[in-house]
Amino acid sequence: MKVAVDTSLCIGSGMCALTAPAVFDQDPDEAVVVLLDPAPPPAQHAAVRLAVQRCPAAVITATED
Ligand code: SF4
Repeated sequence: MKVAVDTSLCIGSGMCALTAPAVFDQDPDEAVVVLLDPAPPPAQHAAVRLAVQRCPAAVITATED
């Protein structure tokens, strides 16, 4: 799985970091998403798919291998 985020359109809701904290974090100053792992291991895939669904700005993409 390859994960990408369009940070220019992130509205800083933090849902991704709550849903998949091993893959997403938030910048403490600007609250914008920080992608910690653009190629997460299989154990993280379900959480990433959920984060994609929950992102209110729809700026996370996850491409399956
Ligand atoms: S869930 Fe979406 S809008 Fe919210 S912080 Fe994450 S990437 Fe940004």
